[in-house]
Amino acid sequence: MYILFILYSNMKSYQEIEKYVEMLGGDVGYIGVTYLGYPIPVITKGRENNKRILLVGGVHAREYITSYLLFELIKEYDGECLIDCVPVLNIDGMLLSRLGLGMFDNKGLCEELLRLNQNSEDFSLWKANIRGVDLNVNFDADWGGGEQNILYPASANYIGPYPHSEKETQAIVELINKKDYNMIVAYHSKGEEIFYGFGDNLKHKKKAQKVADFLGYELKTSQGSAGGLKDYAVDKLNKFSITIEVGEDRFPHPYPMGELENLVKRHRGSLELFCKLG
Ligand SMILES: [Zn+2]
Repeated sequence: MYILFILYSNMKSYQEIEKYVEMLGGDVGYIGVTYLGYPIPVITKGRENNKRILLVGGVHAREYITSYLLFELIKEYDGECLIDCVPVLNIDGMLLSRLGLGMFDNKGLCEELLRLNQNSEDFSLWKANIRGVDLNVNFDADWGGGEQNILYPASANYIGPYPHSEKETQAIVELINKKDYNMIVAYHSKGEEIFYGFGDNLKHKKKAQKVADFLGYELKTSQGSAGGLKDYAVDKLNKFSITIEVGEDRFPHPYPMGELENLVKRHRGSLELFCKLG
């Protein structure tokens, strides 16, 4: 599986990724490069009609279950519109969360990461990118106005030195400003909730409710949060965009991989629904 390739290979050959995506029946492109130099892949699959949808997973490092879920969903997808899928946005952070410091040979970087992690070598709960910036508070939508925002690098909640300061954020911003998406979905974990709208802009409630009904998740507005991908897409681009918090709250972080099959079952058919809604 491609994600395993990302996590466990030496990541020298992206041809292998391309081969995998070919097997899916899609195309692969790259939307940017992370700080550690890994290209951020986008898989495009589906049929050309008047709709195009973007799915983004792996924004928070420890929430890599969302990447695995997206791989499974895009593999099965055979719908009527074009879907662009960025399964792992925060590749560096995910590598850190899954593999710890062992995979980094830059001593200065390791020392800095240890410091940000309160000298613990257990990085399994890390959310940020490799610079200690939380990508989902780095977008330009009431940037710095979130209740949990902090102003220094950390494993979570640091907004960054300025909006869109991070390469991963920039890659998504560039993509969604270039392509006129009908719907933008950000995947996080966990809580079985769907967040829609931003501030007073709640105009896509009905469509968001249909997704919530399909998944059996609870629909909510995201009061108290700011600077997220969905927030930016709604606030600055006036798009239909939602955040889906996949998985049950009773499980710990990182979400147990043994639960992937149940998640896939729950989400099966949702991409086809997005094509109708978007
Ligand atoms: Zn998250």
